[in-house]
Amino acid sequence: MKTIGVIGGMSWESSTEYYRLLNRYAKDRLGGHHNARSLLLTLDFATIEAAQRAGDWPALGEQMADAARQLERGGADLVLLATNTMHRVASSIEQAVSIPFLHIADPTGVALCAAGIGRVGLLGTRYTMEQAFYVDRLRERYGLDVLIPTEAERHDVHRIIYNELCHGVVSDASREVYRRIIDTLAARGAQAVILGCTEITLLIKPDDSALPVFDTTALHAQAAVQWAIDAA
Ligand code: GLU
Repeated sequence: MKTIGVIGGMSWESSTEYYRLLNRYAKDRLGGHHNARSLLLTLDFATIEAAQRAGDWPALGEQMADAARQLERGGADLVLLATNTMHRVASSIEQAVSIPFLHIADPTGVALCAAGIGRVGLLGTRYTMEQAFYVDRLRERYGLDVLIPTEAERHDVHRIIYNELCHGVVSDASREVYRRIIDTLAARGAQAVILGCTEITLLIKPDDSALPVFDTTALHAQAAVQWAIDAA
């Protein structure tokens, strides 16, 4: 099995989920005492979150590139970036290493197409919902019509991610807020919803949503395990 390198810590609440899922999927596939071969590099989210707010994407690109190089030096065969938002600087990672980089939007786009979904709602940080890097990739590569929540809804989705989920706080009240926003996306014609932030999976399970959910954390981890086993 190949070694999966994970750039994590953004936040560590979702990195633990990645770690659990990578191992679980490897065991599902191979059975017995198998788990995934992996390296997890945990960055300090305080500095990253501050740079995001300052809009200092070039510095963040450098940090992600350094992290990817560190994983490659450590023996990783593949790089995963365990956050949707930081894919804003995915090209910095791709340029920094010679091992493959598995973009988080790709397994999600593939799964949506396989399910025959054409119009999909997107929940994530403001950066992911509002900037072009994520929505454009889904539109251009997978032909998806991506709906984002209204300004007021985006405010709530973003606030709950940073003020609660990244601190491990999972509340019924916030689940209700997300449920209502998913209902609105459904009323606007979305056929499914992308959990486009790696912590949302902690709050919203398939039963909490009126729409089928496409969980980027799970789809990303699953695709990585598939690659690590099949490429070996
Ligand atoms: N983990 C989150 C995401 O998937 C948000 C935290 C971050 O800004 O990296 O976008």
